Amino acid sequence: MTTRQLEPGQEVVVARGGLDGMLRGLARGGYRVVGPTVRDQAIVYDDIETTDDLPVGWTDEHEGGHYRLHRRADSALFGYVVGPHSWKRFLHPPVQQLWRAERQGDGFEIRAEPGPERPFAFVAVRSCDLQAIAVQDRVFLEGSYVDPHYRGRRAGAFILAVNCGEARGTCFCTSMGTGPKAGRGFDLALTELEPEGDHRFLIEVGSARGAALLAEVPQRPASEQDSAAARALVERTAASMGREMPQLDMQDLLMGNLEHPRWDDVAERCLTCGNCTMVCPTCFCTDTEEDLDLTGESMGRTRKWTSCYTLDFSYIHGGSVRGSAKSRYRQWMTHKLATWHDQFGTSGCVGCGRCITWCPVGIDITEEVRAIKGSEPA
Ligand code: SF4
Ligand code: SF4
Repeated sequence: MTTRQLEPGQEVVVARGGLDGMLRGLARGGYRVVGPTVRDQAIVYDDIETTDDLPVGWTDEHEGGHYRLHRRADSALFGYVVGPHSWKRFLHPPVQQLWRAERQGDGFEIRAEPGPERPFAFVAVRSCDLQAIAVQDRVFLEGSYVDPHYRGRRAGAFILAVNCGEARGTCFCTSMGTGPKAGRGFDLALTELEPEGDHRFLIEVGSARGAALLAEVPQRPASEQDSAAARALVERTAASMGREMPQLDMQDLLMGNLEHPRWDDVAERCLTCGNCTMVCPTCFCTDTEEDLDLTGESMGRTRKWTSCYTLDFSYIHGGSVRGSAKSRYRQWMTHKLATWHDQFGTSGCVGCGRCITWCPVGIDITEEVRAIKGSEPA
């Protein structure tokens, strides 16, 4: 194996030791390295140091309202899809202190909350989640108001993407045009090959800093056989999605059917628990809370994730606008699939399937669309 100067678009092959070298290189380069790991019988994102911290030899099973981890017969590092966490946990955290104020004489000194000390390096970002980060970039960075907290967390983030070698029962990225292969927005994109035999990682360079990181570790040029194996794996994954979103004009379908009886049907099943909004990598709604200590010397403002499934979310002077489960589910789904286009120019759904897996009653957004389409009034 040799090291050489690499350009974006080039592909090389590294062994697991090379991947460890890359993780060390990221930490040496001042990044906070975050990636998948096993905790509480789920694959979650947390700080990692070596490939031993990854879910080595684990796989996951997904269906509506169903998630289980199992051991694999091999030592794959990336042989699972996405768990309950998404990268918004780090870029747009569940609880974010915005500022604190301390009494100074007759007035107050307000201190803005500092951003993170180190930029993030996200390891094993799936293509759907890469697209979800792009969706949140549009929300927080590309509108008329730029969110300084998101900007501070997003700045300089290094992205090591992973192309999916397997799909699960709730995946439908192919029909959303968001996967399973990472297209752009990454520094490096990896495909794991033959974990049961000649275990290796084909890595595509996406940026100059990705190339610089790769140059620090032993690697060899990818052969035509390596590239063909990676292509075949991703094609197989694309063909084995557990679900599919119907290819329709969602704005026409959903906004033209606001009184469809299916909304009553789904309201019978929906618990309005808000799980789907918490696990969704693009949902971004928040509430702000202020706290004042009992001495009156200090106070602060905190931003917290909230959900359009709560009654408080639409509460205005004297009552909630969306008082029924029907209106709250309809609000979430029509925003996600239809009015998001009006606001941000894309769908708010990237087909990750989390809302289906983590819905306690297994409500399936693709099935709800099909049901409305299949029984549209003539
Ligand atoms: S709506 Fe569901 S499938 Fe779509 S991005 Fe959100 S969690 Fe994933
Ligand atoms: S659709 Fe499922 S996850 Fe979402 S609020 Fe209803 S019951 Fe909860």
